[in-house]
Amino acid sequence: MAEVILKKGHDKPLQKFHPWIFSGAIDRVEGTPSPGEVIDVFSFDGQWLARGWFSPQSQIRVRILTKDADEQIDSNFFKLKILRAYEWRKKIGIAKNGAAFRLINAESDGIPGLVIDVYKNAAVCQFSSVGAEKMKNEFVSILSQFKGIESVYERSDIDSRKYEGLPLLTGLLYGKEIPDNIQIEENGIKFLIDVKKGHKTGFYLDQRLNRQKIIPFSKNALVLNCFSYTGGFGIYAAKGGAERVINIDSSSFALELARQNFLLNGIEEEKVEFFVEDTGKYLRECRDRGQKFDLVVLDPPKFAESKSHVYAASRAYKDINLLAIKLCKKDGILFTFSCSGHVGMDLFEKIVASAAVDASRRLQIIDRLFQSPDHPVDIAFPEGGYLKGLICRVL
Ligand code: SAH
Repeated sequence: MAEVILKKGHDKPLQKFHPWIFSGAIDRVEGTPSPGEVIDVFSFDGQWLARGWFSPQSQIRVRILTKDADEQIDSNFFKLKILRAYEWRKKIGIAKNGAAFRLINAESDGIPGLVIDVYKNAAVCQFSSVGAEKMKNEFVSILSQFKGIESVYERSDIDSRKYEGLPLLTGLLYGKEIPDNIQIEENGIKFLIDVKKGHKTGFYLDQRLNRQKIIPFSKNALVLNCFSYTGGFGIYAAKGGAERVINIDSSSFALELARQNFLLNGIEEEKVEFFVEDTGKYLRECRDRGQKFDLVVLDPPKFAESKSHVYAASRAYKDINLLAIKLCKKDGILFTFSCSGHVGMDLFEKIVASAAVDASRRLQIIDRLFQSPDHPVDIAFPEGGYLKGLICRVL
């Protein structure tokens, strides 16, 4: 087996269970490992430390699979990891018939660069490390043996693959053709998912519990659901008794599916509106009209792609939050999110606080929100936690 030898003092993150070794930490590579090959990692003084996937093109040169020298990295290793992840999700009631859930959350579930989302009978995979890519057939074979899985589909159309020297790929890997829409049920609400054309693997599963939290605030409410995607928070609000739900998204594809999802859940058409529009523009128009809402949801896409974007992203978060706060009636509720990993909860709270000051409104934090439990975050890998949100009462 090829070997990676670290520079002196560069084994600390690994000792603390961080799963990445950056190129700058490496003194030398012994042997000529191919992309995605399993290699052993040693300290500068020859101590065995870990075993992981080698990625010659990426700054993340090694992704750790085990720190147990006796553990072999074979298909059984991955099978056990996937089964364990499944059993745990079953135990907490997330993995059940007809449901949609994240089965494997990459590094935090011990398989770096692999995401598996299950939509009823279809498993949708995203391979973002060359190691996971190389094992693709093994993963497909493991999933094909799962009771109830009839198709395995690939959505490896994510930019981060370029850092690993991998092309963007999508398509069926196993089993039955995927229908254009898969109907799933989430907390008793039905959603049509377009696995082939939807965002990510088709749905924002990370917001499952947060969507449910809107129900108690929705009775008779006039709701503005910004960045609605396929209906998400808006459908929950309607189910919670909202008087009217206005959904804004820049994607007509998303809003067409949203329209179908509202209908599917038996929500009267006259209670719902859809606008294909830029959220900022729509919020400003509401401000200029003097329109006010009982409940505003802001769930934008990732504004900060990297650390260098944090300043610009903070400005952008502040702008939309400032407008949204101004649009809230007295004692209105704001659900506001950021899915930028580089904007932590502390910074996000500061941004919302500063938006409130500029809007001349007082805010109470009612709840702090994170990603759903099928998107766990390994405590040694804070990079895995990206979604944060606040429920605020606007005084
Ligand atoms: N709340 C949704 C997920 C939102 S994802 C749910 O629960 O499922 C972010 C959405 O923002 C995407 O649907 C994307 O199309 C939309 N979007 C991105 N930029 C936008 C903009 N400037 N104005 C309006 N919508 C935008």
